[in-house]
Formats: sequence, C-alpha cells, structure tokens
Amino acid sequence: MTPVIAVVGRPNVGKSTLFNALTNTRDALVADLPGLTRDRQYGEVELADFQATLVDTGGMLGDEGQLTGMMDEQIMKAVEEADLVLFVVSARDGLVGDDERILKRIRQVSKTIWLLVNKSEGRVDEMALAEFYQLGIEHLMAVSAAHRKGLAELKQSINQHFKDQASGYEDQEVIDHGPKIAIIGRPNVGKSTLVNRLLREERVLAFDMPGTTRDSISLPMIWDDMPYTLIDTAGVRRRSRVDEGIEKFSILKTIESIKLAQICVVMIDAQEGITDQDLHLLGLAVYHAKPVILAVNKWDHLSDEHRDYVKEKINLKMKAFEWVPLLYTSALHGSGLRVLMERIDLLMEKADAELTANQLTNVLIEAYKAHQPPLVQGLSSQLKFAHSGGNHPMKIIIHGKRTTKLPESYKRYLENSFRKAFQLKGVPIIMQFKDGK
Ligand code: GDP
Ligand code: GDP
Repeated sequence: MTPVIAVVGRPNVGKSTLFNALTNTRDALVADLPGLTRDRQYGEVELADFQATLVDTGGMLGDEGQLTGMMDEQIMKAVEEADLVLFVVSARDGLVGDDERILKRIRQVSKTIWLLVNKSEGRVDEMALAEFYQLGIEHLMAVSAAHRKGLAELKQSINQHFKDQASGYEDQEVIDHGPKIAIIGRPNVGKSTLVNRLLREERVLAFDMPGTTRDSISLPMIWDDMPYTLIDTAGVRRRSRVDEGIEKFSILKTIESIKLAQICVVMIDAQEGITDQDLHLLGLAVYHAKPVILAVNKWDHLSDEHRDYVKEKINLKMKAFEWVPLLYTSALHGSGLRVLMERIDLLMEKADAELTANQLTNVLIEAYKAHQPPLVQGLSSQLKFAHSGGNHPMKIIIHGKRTTKLPESYKRYLENSFRKAFQLKGVPIIMQFKDGK
C-alpha cells in the first residue's frame, strides 16, 4: 500500500515544521522548478516498511480569508482521502476554540485521527496535556517538531499502524508485466481516450486488480509483442462506464499513480496550452524521480497556424523542463501513439543505463575543454573526474576544485552535455559536486 497522511491544525501550531522534519526533501531534483518548490504541500516520509505521502494542509483551516495554503474544500478532500490524519495542537497554547472547531470538521470525514501535542519540549505541562485528553482522541502523542523530539517514535507508530492495516488484505503490489506507465494530467485532456485506444488497438484483455482505498488499477497490455502495464489511479478507465459520471480530479490519486509507475506521461490539451497545474504535475513526476514525457494531445484540433503559436508558447513555459521530451499526439485518431511507445522504451532503457566513470569523465573533460567556467576572483574551478552515484534518481558525481563556485548556468551546461552524450532526455538527474584537496 502507499499510505497518505494529512497534517491538519490551526495556524502556528507547527505543521510546516513537522512536515519538514518528517519528509526527506528531494530538493536537488526540484530546486529550480517553478511552482513546486513554492508549495511544499506534498512530501515523502521514509518509514521502515513504507514510503508514505505526507500532505501539509497549510494554515488555511481556521484562518479565514487568507489564501496562502490550499483552499478549504481541497483540505477537506485531502483529509477525506488520507489514510491517517495527524491533528496538531500546541502545548504552549493549550486547547483553544479553533482546535475544537477544526477537529469537529475533520471528524466528519475521517475515521483515523491522531492527536499530536506539539511544542512539548522541556518540561511537559501535565495540565496542558490533560486538557487535550478531553478531545476524546485515543491516540495522543507529545512531540516537539522544532527539537525533533518524539518523531522517531511517531514514525514507528505510523509504520506499525499501516503494517497492521496492510496485513488485513493481500499485498497490492502492481503485477509485474513490463514497464509500469502512469498517464497523468488534468481532467479532459484525453487520458481515458489514450488508455482505451492503447488497450483496444491491441485487443488485449484488460482486467482490474482490486484497488486500494484510492482505487489503483493496473491494466496489462501488449504493444508490439511487448508487455506493458498502465497504472490507472485516476479512474480514467472507469470513465468509460457512462453511469459513473465524471470523476473529480484528485492530486493524491495522481501521486499514487506516479509512485507506482516507472515512467510518467504527462498529458496536456494543446488547445489550452500548458497551465500552471500541468507544470505542477510535471514537477511531481520529477520530484518522484520518474522519467517523464510530455504529450501534447488533441493536436488534430489545431490549424497549422495555431500549431506554430502553441509550440512557441509551450517551449517558453517549458524552460525549466527543457530536458523533458515533448510529443504531439491525437489520442482520438491514434496519431503519435507509436512514437510515444517508442519513447517510453527508450526512456526505460536510458533510465537504467549504467554509465562508467570512464564514460562520464570523458564527457566531463570534453565539455570542460569546449567551454571553461568563468573565473571567480582570478581563480577558475577545476573539474577532474565524474562517476555515477546510482540510478532512480540518476546521480552524477563530479569531483574537482572550487566546484562550489560554479554558476548554476555552468552546472546546467554540464548536465546538458551528459544528457546529449548519453541520450538522457527525459531522465531526471541529480548532479553532485565534490571538492578534493
Ligand atoms: P504552521 O503554521 O502550523 O505550519 O506552524 P509553523 O511550522 O510555521 O510553526 C509556527 C511557529 O512555531 C514557528 O515559529 C516554529 O518555529 C514554532 N515551532 C514549531 N514547532 C515547535 C516546537 O516543537 N517547539 C517550539 N517551541 N516551537 C515550535
Ligand atoms: P480525460 O479526462 O483526461 O480522461 O479525458 P477524455 O479522454 O475523457 O477526453 C476528454 C474529451 O476530449 C473527450 O470528448 C474526447 O473525445 C476528447 N479528446 C481526447 N483526445 C482527443 C484528441 O486527441 N483530439 C480531439 N480532438 N479530442 C480528443
């Protein structure tokens, strides 16, 4: 299972601090992605047996009129979809009216609520704790997010909780049937049309796996005699049953899809261009270190003239994602699908590429010779050798002197040199620099 945990509470109780303390941020992958770094709403918590998604609901509830965090309705949706809610209060403030008001609301949609009494460092005020018992939440823990007190115990309890839950039913690992592909995107961009097209064209029997609470379904298919599995957590397949109506877009379902997949196809609607939410979805795939392709769908719908215009617009918006391959498709007519599947194969192969220190160093030296980094205070950075730091996410480690002085633009130049040399378009890469003596 891929558990989801929501952190809820009124402003200033320490939710963000807790969120940051619990999540292992993948800043290196998303450092210069617009949007995603700004909203730290979703993170990953490494538990002993699970990797859970943590949702920080921001300070919205009880903070009327301030539009900084998620919208109220979205918070309630996140709470509803979460497998566990951590309701945070402050030992310093004691129980206040807003706490009770918020709790009342989350109780309407969630069954599993734990109470975290934060800011409990130093001498815990027993009186303050006693106050919180009256909320009637069985599972109460005193923690201090700022001082990292009680967090290890918290993680242990969460892990145990999900372990107990998971033992109730069969493990829902997605079956092993070729590369696992997630097709994600906003509603109406054409995801179900594509999925149905891919399944129908090959006339392969699709079967539904029993889903988790968020209904993840894996759809095995054969394309060119090769096995693939489409991951459908967004309910795109069920849409084909008319009576189910249009399903609400769920970012949590999308995240679950991304996590289960080995490769993500982010689909956008060519008529609408690329929106901030599209970029956000791309960012989420990158954050989870998944190889990614952008499919610009409904391409058939545009006139030649309009196509040039749209291409230009998209390229502009894709600046931070220049390394993501871009394809034009028509799910409706089936054009571009062959290219898409070929790209998927290529990306799967490249993401697994084992690059030797020799190969990497050669490219590094060539790039360095062709274009030297600028001098800083009369001194130049030196780049000596490179080696791999593993795949998924792909890490390239570069050794040299004064590498901390390298400007971002030069780091990007190096990254691009590696991408070109090894055909790594679409593969997220973390570049690490180390200075020797
Ligand atoms: P949020 O609005 O609920 O996200 O709260 P923040 O995480 O922004 O924290 C609000 C304030 O409480 C900040 O000044 C934090 O440094 C402080 N804070 C967070 N956790 C603790 C804690 O465990 N102990 C103390 N004393 N302060 C904390
Ligand atoms: P989803 O919500 O992302 O699953 O989108 P759907 O697959 O349900 O598609 C939404 C609408 O767009 C439907 O009316 C489709 O027929 C239409 N559509 C999907 N793909 C294309 C395409 O490539 N070209 C055109 N013109 N329409 C498409």
